[in-house]
Amino acid sequence: MRTNIQEAEEFRDYIAKWVDNRLIPVAEEIDVAGEFPRELAKELGELGYIGTMYPEGAGGIGLENPNLCFSILNEEIARGSLGFAAWICMQGSTATHTIYEWGNDHLKKEYMEPALKGEKICAFAITEPNAGSDAASLRTKATKVDGGWVINGSKVFTSNGTVADFITIVASTDLSLGAKGLELFVVDTDFDGFSVSQKLDKMSVRSSDTAALSFDDMFVPDNHMLSSETGNGFRNAYRSLTVDRIFTAALAVGNARAAYDAAKQYAQEREQFGRQIGSFQAIEFRLVDMYANLQTAAMHTYHAAQMADRGEDITTEAAMAKLVASEKGREVCHDAVTIYGGWGLMNEYPVQRYLRDSYFPMVGGGTPEIMRKIIGRKAAH
Ligand SMILES: Cc1cc2nc3c(=O)[nH]c(=O)nc-3n(C[C@H](O)[C@H](O)[C@H](O)COP(=O)(O)OP(=O)(O)OC[C@H]3O[C@@H](n4cnc5c(N)ncnc54)[C@H](O)[C@@H]3O)c2cc1C
Repeated sequence: MRTNIQEAEEFRDYIAKWVDNRLIPVAEEIDVAGEFPRELAKELGELGYIGTMYPEGAGGIGLENPNLCFSILNEEIARGSLGFAAWICMQGSTATHTIYEWGNDHLKKEYMEPALKGEKICAFAITEPNAGSDAASLRTKATKVDGGWVINGSKVFTSNGTVADFITIVASTDLSLGAKGLELFVVDTDFDGFSVSQKLDKMSVRSSDTAALSFDDMFVPDNHMLSSETGNGFRNAYRSLTVDRIFTAALAVGNARAAYDAAKQYAQEREQFGRQIGSFQAIEFRLVDMYANLQTAAMHTYHAAQMADRGEDITTEAAMAKLVASEKGREVCHDAVTIYGGWGLMNEYPVQRYLRDSYFPMVGGGTPEIMRKIIGRKAAH
């Protein structure tokens, strides 16, 4: 019988080949264009990868250890392009997970299943202009009407926002209740009253689409509300966002791995003072530190993923994986740029992209300060 680790390593071999052949050759181009490559997303859907987290009955591929394999999927794709990987991180996890856990048959058939095939693109929107780290203070309002809800408000920093066919949003049914008044709604981007107010341009993960959204008297039918019991919306969103931190950590690991591999190769090729620069102990030690940081990031990530696969409480470990992997990952990318000397600053080489992209895993899903607050509940009290 195959062990879980064998399953994960076989899984890595398959996706790594796709990344080498299909993604790495276009990674620079999609970064410069700042465009989400929809055709590649469709291809991954046809190959079954978007459904890594789900059982076969739900349109997934039925793996023994889905959290570890989905982490590896995110890591490998981020090794090619963190911008593109940010898409699958959202599409294969939070944006579909909420429907898988709390959606009815209509939502599963019309939205989740096509999303897992790559036929529909999806997003998850909680952040608002005045509600970031303090997400529960959001102001988007859902008002009950006959047959559904009328939603007014706005979202910002929504990944996949301009390209999404549907978006799970968090809105308040009663602003006076705070977090207890929040519910999840699946919004078809064809609904009247939905609009993209801005496609956001950014220095990091440029091929990941990021948008500001607006809801203006947008009617959402009752069967598009996710949480079954009133007041569960925020708790459900929080559960999805918690496990998602492991996958964001995996994004940081993949990106840092690409930076380390590039720097190691450059140190063997570049000569100064008649020697390979990698033979100077200063460079050798820097590579050693990069490798140690990379392994630390990967071990925290796989540990949290395996805990999730065992059904254990991952609140602290998922936050720790994201904190360690994103901070160590950024250090690795910084070191890679340093080893490249002047060429590190030039667009001819991808190390500048790795450094720019390394900022995303630090912010997406919560900042390092918020991760420290979560870990602090166990570690400091
Ligand atoms: C590229 C990108 C993609 C994103 N994708 C999505 C998405 O798909 N869906 C979605 O809903 N959101 C998304 N986000 C939003 C992301 O989750 C938020 O940006 C993040 O949670 C931080 O919120 P903020 O930007 O409003 O910063 P703020 O909350 O305003 O924080 C500003 C600073 O204050 C610090 N701070 C805040 N509160 C505290 C505190 N209590 N203690 C100590 N320090 C504190 C923060 O750490 C930070 O340094 C995305 C963001 C980016 C940049």
